[in-house]
Amino acid sequence: MNYPHQRRSSLSQKLKTQGLDGFLITAPVNVTYLTGFTGDASFYAALPKNNTLISDTRFEEQIKEECADLDAAIRGHSKTTLEAAAEVLTKAGVKSVGVEGNRITLGELEALKQLAPKITFVPVDGVVEAQRAVKDPGEVEKIREAVRAAERGFRMFAATLRETDTEKDLVDAIEGYVRRAGARGTSFPPIVAVGERGALPHAPPTSRQLGEGSKLLVDWGADMLYKSDITRTLKSPFGTSPSRRNKMERVGFDFDELYAVVLAAQDAAIATIRPGVKAKDVDAAARKVIANYKFKGGKHPDIKLGDYFTHGLGHGIGLEIHEAPKIRANSEDVLEAGMVVTIEPGIYLPGWGGIRIEDDILVTHDSCKLLTSLSRESAMLTAS
Ligand code: ZN
Ligand code: ZN
Repeated sequence: MNYPHQRRSSLSQKLKTQGLDGFLITAPVNVTYLTGFTGDASFYAALPKNNTLISDTRFEEQIKEECADLDAAIRGHSKTTLEAAAEVLTKAGVKSVGVEGNRITLGELEALKQLAPKITFVPVDGVVEAQRAVKDPGEVEKIREAVRAAERGFRMFAATLRETDTEKDLVDAIEGYVRRAGARGTSFPPIVAVGERGALPHAPPTSRQLGEGSKLLVDWGADMLYKSDITRTLKSPFGTSPSRRNKMERVGFDFDELYAVVLAAQDAAIATIRPGVKAKDVDAAARKVIANYKFKGGKHPDIKLGDYFTHGLGHGIGLEIHEAPKIRANSEDVLEAGMVVTIEPGIYLPGWGGIRIEDDILVTHDSCKLLTSLSRESAMLTAS
């Protein structure tokens, strides 16, 4: 199945409804989506006849391998890609051409207007991004591969944890294992947070050692062109001595109790996922579980747990690590079959730490399917 060809046809259909006779795609990720070409510095022109990839001689061979079915305009080094694009568009005789308003720079747009003075360029936002939100079977398979590589990497990582590993060592380790599992690398700089540092949802790695905290939060993914994004929070396998932990961690909250709340929030959100459901309602389902929670034995009566779930519930993944749809309270997005989203509720208690559980989920025709298969039970993760 030639999926890029289908994607180009869908885009061309949309152009007609917008009254445009061409579209110049300049964002590398959108060029890749529409052509299958994985290099950079190239544009794609959707035209009434002969859709064209505009590139340069460095990529000639790669283009033959990756998208032989597509017309290519290969420029020499005396010309810029913008100049080559203006030529292709002028030659095609198009009058009104869409450009990616949210991607192209003002300088590029001004240059295009000067190079092709007879064409009206119309900034249009998010057309390809909206199309990318719903994955075709080829894309779902690639995301599955990225999930599998991330999980294989994590299993190796979890089996080799040492008490003296610092957060920085652990970032290096997970990156290495994910590459060894077949990925080009991680899909974003992994977050590895020991102990109370997990209270920062995007904690940068430090020289804090694993043995200095009672828990470990790891947020990572694999890049196989398509991306995966997973978070697991585990109890330190080293039964840390209380003297090595900071005071708040020692006197704070019960890990197992809070873990169960986050897991229940994630389950509640996943249970609502099916086509036609508003993304904000999925967010609300998780938020409700956390906000309504009362600590066992009437402990921590002043803590309103809902105040400590401080980010949106999830996001689409695909060629980019964050893409449509947004799963958060202010989202207007509605779920459709074929979307792949993360569901990642978390609780962050400053001084104590954080717990986040993140999985990758495919919206199916009647409900949804978990693409991740790593145990969501914290205790199981380092048992091997
Ligand atoms: Zn993540
Ligand atoms: Zn995420």
